[in-house]
Amino acid sequence: MKVMVAVKRVVDYNVKVRVKADQSDVDIGNVKMSMNPFDEIAVEEAVRLKEAGKISEVVVISLGVKQCEETLRTALAMGADRAIHIETDEQLQPLAVAKLLHAVAQQEQPQLLLLGKQAIDDDANQTAQMLAALMSAAQGTCVSKVELHSDEVLVTREIDGGQEQLGLKLPAVISVDLRLNEPRYIKLPNIMQAKKKPLEKKSVAELNVDIQPRLIQLKVAEPKARTAGIKVADVAELVSRLKNEAKVI
Ligand code: AMP
Repeated sequence: MKVMVAVKRVVDYNVKVRVKADQSDVDIGNVKMSMNPFDEIAVEEAVRLKEAGKISEVVVISLGVKQCEETLRTALAMGADRAIHIETDEQLQPLAVAKLLHAVAQQEQPQLLLLGKQAIDDDANQTAQMLAALMSAAQGTCVSKVELHSDEVLVTREIDGGQEQLGLKLPAVISVDLRLNEPRYIKLPNIMQAKKKPLEKKSVAELNVDIQPRLIQLKVAEPKARTAGIKVADVAELVSRLKNEAKVI
C-alpha cells in the first residue's frame, strides 16, 4: 500500500510576520521557512505506518518554488521513500493545489493521502476537502488517530464536546490535527541518507491543470493594537466603569 503526503513550505511558526508597507501581502523576504507543522505530523504518521509494516511506500509531494526541495529533503530525512516536486513560481490557491495533487494521485494511485489540516500561512483549511471531492474519495478531517486496515481506515476526529470515529473506504483523504503524534527529531545520518533518495520534478504544464487564482486578496493589515489596561481601586469602581465607560453591563 502506498501513502502520499503533501508538504507545504511556509514561514516558520516562530517568525513574527510583518505586513508589507503597501498592505498587499505579508513580507516573506529573508524570513526562515519550514515545513508546515501539520504536514510534519502527516509525514510522521506515514513513516510510523511504514515502520509498523502497514504500508510499503511513503511518497511526499510539495508544490511551489525551487526551495520546496529543502522541505522535501526534510520529509525524506524523516523517513519518506521518495519525493515529487511540482515546481512553479506562481501563487497557488487551495483549489489549484487540490487539482495538482489530484493529477499526481491519478498517476501514483496512492491508497491513502495525508495532508495537514491547514497551512499556517493561509489558514485556509480547504485543500484536503477539495482534493477528496475531486477524487470522489472518502475524507476524514482534523484527525487525531489513524488505524489502517486492508480496505478501510478508521479515524478519530475531535469535534465539539467529544470525539467522532469514522470508517473510510480506501482510497481516502485524511487531514491531520495536532494531537495525532509528535514528529521525530531528525538525526544527521538521516539527513545524509535523504540526499541520496529520489526527488522527481514535474511541471504544472505537463499535468495540464488550470491554476488560475479564483480569489483576489484585497488587503492585508496588522491586527489593531490593544490599548493598555487600567487598575481599579475596588469593586464599586469596576462596576461603575463597566456600566458608564465600557457600557457592557
Ligand atoms: P490549506 O488548505 O491551504 O490550509 O492547506 C492544507 C494542507 O494542504 C497543507 O497542510 C498541506 O498538506 C497541503 N498543501 C497546501 N498547499 C500545499 C503546497 N503548495 N504544497 C504541498 N502541500 C500543500
